[in-house]
Amino acid sequence: MAALCRCRHRWKRNNCLHVLTRTLTGKYDYDLVVIGGGSGGLACSKEAAQLGQKVAVLDYVEPTAKGTKWGLGGTCVNVGCIPKKLMHQAALLGTAVKDAQKYGWQISGPICHDWASMADAVQNHVRSLNWGHRVQLQDKKVQYLNLRGRLRDAHTVRGLTKAGKETLLTAKNIVIATGGRPKYPTDIPGAMEHGMTSDDIFWMKTSPGKTLVVGASYVALECAGFLTGIGLDATVMVRSIALRGFDQQMAGLVTDYMEAYGTKFVKGCVPKRVDKLSSGALQVTWTDTLTGSEHKGHLRLCAVGSW
Ligand SMILES: Cc1cc2nc3c(=O)[nH]c(=O)nc-3n(C[C@H](O)[C@H](O)[C@H](O)COP(=O)(O)OP(=O)(O)OC[C@H]3O[C@@H](n4cnc5c(N)ncnc54)[C@H](O)[C@@H]3O)c2cc1C
Repeated sequence: MAALCRCRHRWKRNNCLHVLTRTLTGKYDYDLVVIGGGSGGLACSKEAAQLGQKVAVLDYVEPTAKGTKWGLGGTCVNVGCIPKKLMHQAALLGTAVKDAQKYGWQISGPICHDWASMADAVQNHVRSLNWGHRVQLQDKKVQYLNLRGRLRDAHTVRGLTKAGKETLLTAKNIVIATGGRPKYPTDIPGAMEHGMTSDDIFWMKTSPGKTLVVGASYVALECAGFLTGIGLDATVMVRSIALRGFDQQMAGLVTDYMEAYGTKFVKGCVPKRVDKLSSGALQVTWTDTLTGSEHKGHLRLCAVGSW
């Protein structure tokens, strides 16, 4: 205990000296420290380095409630544009293979989809991008630090490792590019315990099976779209309108197309609770906002979380 106190004391003294030196000399460790290594943070740090600035980028991924985590590159690379586009491509290939038979391609045996193979391919591609981003930073002389950053003052960032070790970094300029993450609804019992977010779906090793996607943002519709496309039973629960903030005529065309393609929509409804049955299946109870009536349905996965 005494050793720990001594150690803490020494650490505090060193950090105070660090900040004091910067204040007295006006010299910083870096010209620029960027907090967040997603699309924004990486682009900003590389541009600044190319202009001769001494740059560090801090990126730290807080695991999801289900424990999913990923590497450098932020939302787009790991749990956004890239994996979703690849999963859409998987869905499109399925349709093309089915059509191909009608155009003379000889395909023996039934056409079915294996989630594990797709997940393996998608996740390996994403890992290769994580690696590529690290190499690019190195090439451009941007220091990458796997630290969770926190502003201490206008020129100081407190970086924390996973193990809780702190480092102080001083910089002339600091850019905050921490992006966003999905949020669980707090008023729906069982939502967090039994549901998952889009961040998890891209890293699942096994098929989610029959899925209820709660919400009708573009993230929700894209997830429901590729799940339907690879042959899964996917339903979107819409509280009021789909794609709020988008042109509603276009939104209508999107949802009409999705419905024709096989995605189910439950409109004007909100989930009330999610329970896990003894069979292992999930049971969702939902309310029709117009009539107030209650309904129940069973599924394997409940994808919740709003963007
Ligand atoms: C399913 C889905 C599909 C999408 N599809 C598209 C698309 O097709 N086209 C498109 O243009 N956009 C798409 N987007 C949106 C796009 O992914 C985001 O707009 C973009 O990634 C935002 O970039 P960013 O740099 O602002 O933040 P992010 O990419 O979220 O990066 C922020 C980074 O900062 C890290 N971080 C957070 N706090 C700290 C901290 N304190 N210290 C250190 N690091 C921290 C985070 O872990 C993360 O790595 C999609 C998003 C989703 C979810």
